[in-house]
Amino acid sequence: MRILIVEDDPTLADGLTRSLQQSGYAVDCAVNGEQASSMLRDGVYDLAILDLGLPRLDGIEVLRRLRQQGGRTPVLILTARDAVESRVQGLDMGADDYMIKPFSLIELEARIRALIRRGQLGSNIPLSCGRLTFDPSARRAYIENRALELSAREIGVLEVLMLRQGKVVNKEQIMEALCNWDEDLGDNAIEVYIHRLRKKLECSGVRIRTLRGLGYLLEAHHGE
Ligand code: CA
Repeated sequence: MRILIVEDDPTLADGLTRSLQQSGYAVDCAVNGEQASSMLRDGVYDLAILDLGLPRLDGIEVLRRLRQQGGRTPVLILTARDAVESRVQGLDMGADDYMIKPFSLIELEARIRALIRRGQLGSNIPLSCGRLTFDPSARRAYIENRALELSAREIGVLEVLMLRQGKVVNKEQIMEALCNWDEDLGDNAIEVYIHRLRKKLECSGVRIRTLRGLGYLLEAHHGE
């Protein structure tokens, strides 16, 4: 995962870089808007953290150019508390989230995870596991050619499991993929969705295994 930090305050840029690197991200920095704009052009970043008050080219303009060129990199903008107008302008311009300075690093990292996940979920390549296929753009799942009747939340859970098939997915990851930032979904709700999905996936040759205390794992199983 590669993150671009666009920030002209060296202390803040250094601090952010260090903590994101510690969390395992590859991090690059741009110190002005022009540099940011050219670095974003190649589309190699999974996320950009964009300060709005920048020399050369302001953050809003960087964002506008990025979206105008069709760049889909998720963007989280950093704004001052009193800059309501520019925050709204940023969101209108295609920013995906924002944080107000000064911010908590823990919260920033949680938002980064959610945005990166959403970016990956936004990919439109059909996924398949055994006889089960999932079409992310139509948000429909099929067993061979038969469409499954799934609720929006069930689709959300299935999508996360399909994206990480063969790997354990914990409840927190499912919740992050399903919920908006201010929503809260209990553990029990996730269990209910998993239970319903299992029923609907009977005879599909795909199963959702529970790994106690760890999470769930989607796998194709033969002999059914
Ligand atoms: Ca600044």
